[in-house]
Amino acid sequence: MALTKKIYQLFEDIVGPENISNDPVVLASYQNPINRASNHMGPFYDVFTPQAVAVLLPACTEEVSNIIKVCNKYGLKLKAFSTGWSGMGYPCEDDTIQLDLRRMNKIIQIDDKNCFAVIEPYVIAAVLQAELMKYGLNTHNIGAGAQASPLASCAYLGPGPDSVFMGFSNENLLGGEWVLPNGEIVRFGTLGSGSGWHYGEGPGPSVRAVLKGLLGSMGAMGVITKVALKVYPWPGPAVLPVKGTIPAYYTELPDNFKYYTLGFPTWQAFADAQHKIWDAQIGYILHRQFNKMGCDLKAGVIRILTESDRHLNDLEELLEDPEVKRHTEEARHDFEIVLAGMTPRDIEWQEKALEEILAETGGWKVKAMQDPMRNAWGMLYLIRWGHKNLNYLYSGSYEGTAGMSGSPDFGIQHIDKVKAFKQEWDKKGMMVADGGDSSMGSVGVIGGGGGFGWEVHACFDSHSKESVEGTLEFFDAMAKFMKENRLGPEKSKHMEPMRQSDGRATPQEARNKMFGATPFPIVYKYQKKVKDAFDPYDLGDVFYKYSTD
Ligand SMILES: Cc1cc2nc3c(=O)[nH]c(=O)nc-3n(C[C@H](O)[C@H](O)[C@H](O)COP(=O)(O)OP(=O)(O)OC[C@H]3O[C@@H](n4cnc5c(N)ncnc54)[C@H](O)[C@@H]3O)c2cc1C
Repeated sequence: MALTKKIYQLFEDIVGPENISNDPVVLASYQNPINRASNHMGPFYDVFTPQAVAVLLPACTEEVSNIIKVCNKYGLKLKAFSTGWSGMGYPCEDDTIQLDLRRMNKIIQIDDKNCFAVIEPYVIAAVLQAELMKYGLNTHNIGAGAQASPLASCAYLGPGPDSVFMGFSNENLLGGEWVLPNGEIVRFGTLGSGSGWHYGEGPGPSVRAVLKGLLGSMGAMGVITKVALKVYPWPGPAVLPVKGTIPAYYTELPDNFKYYTLGFPTWQAFADAQHKIWDAQIGYILHRQFNKMGCDLKAGVIRILTESDRHLNDLEELLEDPEVKRHTEEARHDFEIVLAGMTPRDIEWQEKALEEILAETGGWKVKAMQDPMRNAWGMLYLIRWGHKNLNYLYSGSYEGTAGMSGSPDFGIQHIDKVKAFKQEWDKKGMMVADGGDSSMGSVGVIGGGGGFGWEVHACFDSHSKESVEGTLEFFDAMAKFMKENRLGPEKSKHMEPMRQSDGRATPQEARNKMFGATPFPIVYKYQKKVKDAFDPYDLGDVFYKYSTD
């Protein structure tokens, strides 16, 4: 249904004529090529999110509230995104208004005494980090990259490379401003009683939990317009000294910062070391990151990324280099760690503890990453987290598969099986043959550690119909393989339940069946009660999960 002139005018009166459009070309540019999660399957995957009836760029909370009230009055749906990097930020039903929050881009407050920052949706992590560093502070960065919005991460997921030290996003959510699906503005936590942003709870049930449990309400339960986020000490320079040129940017930090890629003789030692590091409470950043380029290729690719006169075409020749071969073998069971000492004695202690852990597990520091240039590149990569474009390095598209989230002791029993399975599929030539183990993930996942996830990267050519369809077949086969081996849900499908293959919302009946088959079906029945209470006009879409059974 196209918007009537009258309704369009009501919206235009709220945001102004420059900040609204229902021009088909503009609307088409807001359609996301629907895929399994968030990564573009490219031109040969011809399913897009349904077109919104109009796109609006509100400037403030009050405008968002007024927009929602008009939606309620005329039975429209609404979907908001911050930087819009994920498919679930786009409509999945007709008659939906798309909110693009890019005009709400201010850092409202940095409280360096109580260690929190108040931000709007379009403040990206890189900007917040740069501002915080001036105060000796730092922000949690989700694995999606420093171009993502920390506020949006209060609506969806939340682990990152620094989670062991800076938590999972919902651990950092303090006070906030939230426009409910009925247009009411709620200021939760201490903010609600006029005493500032520093605490997210308060008397009575936690409304925060309605917004963000583990996965989050994904833009289907109103719009968050401001949040206060807990921030953390940064014992480094006020400005991150970035040097070099693309793609080999690097940083040289004082001696209280150390970055290592740690290698281990076995997967058991790999898992034991994670537990010992968490128990010792060392580590500022802990992530298995560079392995996403593939266990057989990463050593060569790192050379290409750190020597600016190199090219991707050099890869095959580089893989024959004995030093590159040694790097590959040393890093078969590896992950990255950054130590940040708050004092000289602190870093000294952390280093000693790490040496002890390596001695106990038979681990080592991968020599090749001790090379000054590679080490400085790795340090910048892990601290700023601004290299997520590398997920698309080989062939323009990738998607994460496998998963096996939980204690590292679970995944280590199965990763070699998963690797062999992927190697078989790599031989079909639809995906990059990267050695089969391109698993990566946050080592810790939550504050203090405890979890590890094995997101195996499948890189494919989004401009080849064959490669796209071959990769989709692989994902289906991997899902079957994981089910047969009781390895938990296959990662690339984690969004699929909410959308059908035509990009539209999965019917309620199918959703009821799905939620009924989960270990805790009652949860989805209670979420229906929450939906009825908080969203009486049904503004939000199916990404707020509930059962009507
Ligand atoms: C390569 C890659 C790696 C990733 N790794 C991780 C990871 O390690 N950890 C992790 O947590 N996520 C990860 N993600 C998922 C990531 O969180 C999403 O892609 C997210 O979309 C990032 O973009 P964004 O911050 O702009 O959020 P958007 O894409 O703008 O939004 C994300 C979701 O939040 C909702 N939302 C956004 N803003 C608001 C608002 N103001 N009010 C209410 N709802 C809102 C949207 O509707 C959408 O459902 C990864 C994604 C990719 C592509």
